Amino acid sequence: MNRSLRSSIAIPIATLLLVVMAIAGIAITIYFNHLYFDSIQKNLLSNANLLSTLLSDPRIQIQQKDIENWSQILGERITIIDLSGVVLLESHIDPSKMDNHITRPEIQQAIRDGVGFAQRYSQTLGIEMVYVAVPIRDNSQQTIGYLRLAVPLQKLRAEQRSLLGTLIGSLVLILTITTISVIKVARQATRPLEEITNSISKLSSAGFTSDWKPKLSPTEHSIEIDRLVQAFDYLTQQIHDQIKALEQERNKISTVLQEMTDGVLIIDHEGVIQLANPAVAKMLNLSDPNIIGKTISQVLPHLQFVESWQRTRDSNETQTSLIEIQPKKLYIQCMTAPLETIARGTVLMLLQNLTRQRYLETVRRDFISNISHELRTPLASLKALTETLQEGALDDPPAARKFLMQIETEVDSLSHMVSELLELSRIESGQVPLRLKPASPYEILHKAVDRLGIQAERAGLKVIIDCDPNIPQVFADPSRLEQVVGNLLHNAIKFTPAGGQITLSAKPQDGKVLFCVSDSGIGIPAEDLPRIFERFYKTDRARASGGTGLGLAIAKHVVEAHGGTIWAESVESQGSKFFFLIPQP
Ligand code: ADP
Repeated sequence: MNRSLRSSIAIPIATLLLVVMAIAGIAITIYFNHLYFDSIQKNLLSNANLLSTLLSDPRIQIQQKDIENWSQILGERITIIDLSGVVLLESHIDPSKMDNHITRPEIQQAIRDGVGFAQRYSQTLGIEMVYVAVPIRDNSQQTIGYLRLAVPLQKLRAEQRSLLGTLIGSLVLILTITTISVIKVARQATRPLEEITNSISKLSSAGFTSDWKPKLSPTEHSIEIDRLVQAFDYLTQQIHDQIKALEQERNKISTVLQEMTDGVLIIDHEGVIQLANPAVAKMLNLSDPNIIGKTISQVLPHLQFVESWQRTRDSNETQTSLIEIQPKKLYIQCMTAPLETIARGTVLMLLQNLTRQRYLETVRRDFISNISHELRTPLASLKALTETLQEGALDDPPAARKFLMQIETEVDSLSHMVSELLELSRIESGQVPLRLKPASPYEILHKAVDRLGIQAERAGLKVIIDCDPNIPQVFADPSRLEQVVGNLLHNAIKFTPAGGQITLSAKPQDGKVLFCVSDSGIGIPAEDLPRIFERFYKTDRARASGGTGLGLAIAKHVVEAHGGTIWAESVESQGSKFFFLIPQP
């Protein structure tokens, strides 16, 4: 049975006290009874000896009245019996009415031993009495009769009851006082333990709440309790500090994990994801970002991830693999390492998105191949032209002039390309200062059409300008924006078959102006669309069409230098739309 510490201390002590006091009470009662009874008997005996001496004197004639007087003075019953047991004188009853007393136990004992005691029920008086009987002797020491003195036991019983009452009262009082004291002492002794228990319960249920303070060590307790409380305070303070430090560490790690662009996963030996940062779901475009508790084969979209995890789990060795995910065209570097410190078979998986690096590598490769191609054609024709001249064409002045003019055209086209490249790199590096001022989109569109209108007309194309003359102004370098619109219009003319239509428009949108150049031309294949703004990129793989492939790259950089954005929409063989947004002043 579980009891509180307080009752475990108080109840046994109170019980022990009760038992001790009860035993002491009984012993005292018995002792006092005995003492009292003894003193009554001694008193009766001394009175009996005194009276028997008086009665043995032949000169004194004792009458019934004397017996009654003595009885009153002594407070005792007096009976005088002759040798045959006949009652001669009696203080309380008429002796003639009394039967023979020779058989009474006290008389019998007095006959036998010289003095007789008895405690018994008096048939004559009908009450319990204490008797003492002594022989009455004459001068020659011959027994001439017996004297018996008696007192009612009632008195003794009353005295006993009163003594017992006093004793029980005192015991109850002592017991109450000591029980209260014991409870108080037990409470005092157990209060710090209760406080510690409450404190532990509070800590285990609510933890270290923000209002938690280390408890002050009490000073009114015993040394042992004080030491316990101090040890508890020290312990809780230590745990509190350690938890705080751990929390700080955990917060740091969690923030790092949350903010990391690389994916981090911890996978147990059964393949269940124990931890995953948000980058995993983001990187792999997972529809459900809640992946903790699922298996990696359920979550990760490629078998290679599972294989990498399995190899590390089984071999306990770090694995690195490059995984290409189609059709999203994602390149993920997957590194798996054993995490034996957490649990056997646990694996740490790091996912790094290399798509951008891969893309940049492709762009760089294509750029080199494209620029080589762009240079090779004019250089080859220059080489051929100079060889022809050397081989004798110089001696034919009209032919030589024709070849020289061709050389000039090729050199012009090369220098045009070089100057475009230079300009692009200057715009990119911010070396071309923009003279920003409020400019009218309406005028920008019109100037571009004025410049290239004849070219469009020759190509058999209809050019429409859809723009309100009062359209809000943009904050831009007008000549640069004319260059952008010009490049887009030039492309539209180039890639739209005769009979087609080109529309240039501008309209306000969210504090900016949205420009659009749309055509009904050949359109751009969907796979090329994201790359057409790269330097030297052409959808025409044979690079047969004219142009350097730099026009859109320049347009992009000019728009971005204005704080705007540019993009294209196209459906192959239906036409293309080029949009760009320029902020208003
Ligand atoms: P280019 O000097 O070759 O025109 P650009 O950078 O201006 O270079 O264009 C890059 C490529 O984008 C073009 O070679 C062409 O394949 C494609 N392109 C640009 N504008 C259009 C358009 N309006 N219609 C179809 N294709 C286009």
